[in-house]
Amino acid sequence: MADLGASLKAGIIGNFIGGRTLASASGREQDVFNPARGEVAARVVLSSATDVAEAVAVAKQAFPAWADTPPLRRARILNRFLALMREHRDDLARAITAEHGKVFSDAQGEVERGIDIVEFACGIPQLLKGDFTDQVSTNIDNWTFRQPLGVVAGITPFNFPVMVPAWMFPIALAAGNCFILKPSPIDPTPSLMMAGLLREAGLPDGVFNVIQGDKEAVDALIDHPDVKAVSFVGSTPIANAIYERGAARGKRVQALGGAKNHLVAMPDADPEKVVDALIGAAYGSAGERCMAISVAILVGRAADAIMPMLVERARQLRIGDGLADGIEMGPIVTEAARGRVTGYIDKGVAEGAILLVDGRGHSVKGAARGFFLGATLFDQVTPDMTIYREEIFGPVLACVRVDTLSEALALINAHEFGNGVSCFTSDGHVAREFGRHVEAGMVGINVPIPVPMSWHGFGGWKRSLFGDMHVYGEEGVRFYTRQKSIMQRWPDSIAKGAEFQMPTHR
Ligand code: NAD
Repeated sequence: MADLGASLKAGIIGNFIGGRTLASASGREQDVFNPARGEVAARVVLSSATDVAEAVAVAKQAFPAWADTPPLRRARILNRFLALMREHRDDLARAITAEHGKVFSDAQGEVERGIDIVEFACGIPQLLKGDFTDQVSTNIDNWTFRQPLGVVAGITPFNFPVMVPAWMFPIALAAGNCFILKPSPIDPTPSLMMAGLLREAGLPDGVFNVIQGDKEAVDALIDHPDVKAVSFVGSTPIANAIYERGAARGKRVQALGGAKNHLVAMPDADPEKVVDALIGAAYGSAGERCMAISVAILVGRAADAIMPMLVERARQLRIGDGLADGIEMGPIVTEAARGRVTGYIDKGVAEGAILLVDGRGHSVKGAARGFFLGATLFDQVTPDMTIYREEIFGPVLACVRVDTLSEALALINAHEFGNGVSCFTSDGHVAREFGRHVEAGMVGINVPIPVPMSWHGFGGWKRSLFGDMHVYGEEGVRFYTRQKSIMQRWPDSIAKGAEFQMPTHR
């Protein structure tokens, strides 16, 4: 893999512009932690509007040649990138675990799901195929096809530093755009590793660039007139603000926000399977997944068998450094995030929820400074409580009890978020009713985390997504291209004289 740190001081994570690693003009930096050790591992530059302008100018210059490159040749470069991603899967996964904290096997899974999108993007010649109508009128043909937009940007969250960028850039690049990635400054290294692999695969310099930074870089990207579209994934308040700011400047924006995903356990569901699903989906990646289950709705007598097992399993969770063997849950990403989650647990207790398993104050032997928190389980949570209404984004599961499926559906449909949702049942009719009437973008039936495959597209409803197109899949291709229609008639057949009537087929 290319030595991307070569031109910067040791321990400083820089930008990647025009094929080179560069420092920032801002002089601002931020610590990057190893959350399992609670130690600073490096520092990342925080770019200014000047850095952004440089990246956009380089990308704009690279655009005409890249857009003119035949889709099949673009796909072949992505095919080489696909092979390199597979070859370096474990390097990427190690870098994710080191800066994010999730366990290594989970990080490997994240890389795999990113690779899936690269594989989908390799089919771009087929995906860009247009429509043609022969002889729409005498000697006239009409066809439509899709062209790239130009320079497009992706702004991504800390929780999937490989997979979420990969929801965006493979399709944008395959379609002929130049891309600027603004990753989270919390775990910036994987973005530079992917930039190095794209270069090694033969991507021309300037087609893919990385700008490290925070709000200053994001605002500069959105405001820049040469950035034609913005994909964003992160928390709802920022998604909302980015959607409004981008739309006000006439840009295409898809902004994916936060979530509060419910799992409904019906009385006829297998309790052991429900408990397995809840433990993995609530506490996997320390609950820092936009598709994590943070609310369990236990219908009727479902709670009788589920609750005792859930308490037992939550208490037994193996917590530690994600790179160590046998660990099921790593640390929280930052000290500040741990403080925020702990604050929610305090609030849950104060508002009257029953705390069955308390993760506060959890310590891991030999890693006293790590940002660890234990699994936390609440029962008797009600819809008016803060821990029910707000996204906690940590290993906290809130259990709510209701009597019927209708009550469960009413609760979910009244919630401000509508990302993922799941129903565990052995009744096909219940499953069908649930799937048809639930207001959420992604539904699992006996599947706790229903992340759609690369050719289906990902996106929530309500305040989990601002914009009208989901990421990746065919909607991703549409987002990064615009349609053109050509109506063609050759000189020999041009009618004599001007025509004043609205053209109609003859
Ligand atoms: P975040 O909103 O804090 O940050 C996301 C991105 O926006 C980062 O690149 C960050 O640097 C930038 N940013 C932060 N503050 C900004 C501001 N004021 N102005 C402009 N840009 C700003 O989110 P996070 O904490 O990195 O990630 C966790 C959140 O992301 C959760 O809410 C989670 O649900 C959500 N998420 C959603 C999905 C989805 O598909 N819907 C997927 C992953 C994560």
